[in-house]
Amino acid sequence: MSFTVAIVGRPNVGKSTLFNRLAGRRLALVDDQPGLTRDRRETEVELDACTVTLVDTAGLESGDEGLTARMRQQTEAAVAQADLVLFLIDARTGVTAADEIFGDLVRSAGKPVVLAANKSEGRAAEAGFYEAFSLGLGEPLAISAEHGLGIGEVIDAIGHAV
Ligand code: GDP
Ligand code: MG
Repeated sequence: MSFTVAIVGRPNVGKSTLFNRLAGRRLALVDDQPGLTRDRRETEVELDACTVTLVDTAGLESGDEGLTARMRQQTEAAVAQADLVLFLIDARTGVTAADEIFGDLVRSAGKPVVLAANKSEGRAAEAGFYEAFSLGLGEPLAISAEHGLGIGEVIDAIGHAV
């Protein structure tokens, strides 16, 4: 039986970096699926004895704010498909209005959530880490997808929900 984890958050928080990090660590297969949604990626990750389908959500690398309808729609679809949502914020910028919008979307779906405050490799992340509690999505994990910090905790948290 497959368990699906969607990595969700506003643009630029590090979703794709975390996706690649998790995929690199336990990679079975990376599979681009241009037919479904252009910039969505899925991969299968082995966690203990379970196969987890990991879903990375939309790019939108350019522009700052502005949750386009498309981004929102894609996130909603990924959340609907997921058994668990891995919700990311950028701990260096703290919680933004966009994070709150995505957070509301995730909370209203009623799915299990693992909250991670990414970019936590330095002191600049401390305030943002504590702000993450205000999202009402549980206790955040301090991680750095780029530097490989806290990844084991993320895997454990997913494993507990599987
Ligand atoms: P996405 O839009 O959420 O998929 O974010 P990306 O994975 O494309 O990352 C956005 C930017 O944040 C890139 O420049 C990454 O190198 C950077 N980034 C990702 N993770 C970390 C991290 O743990 N620490 C820092 N300092 N930068 C990160
Ligand atoms: Mg991305």
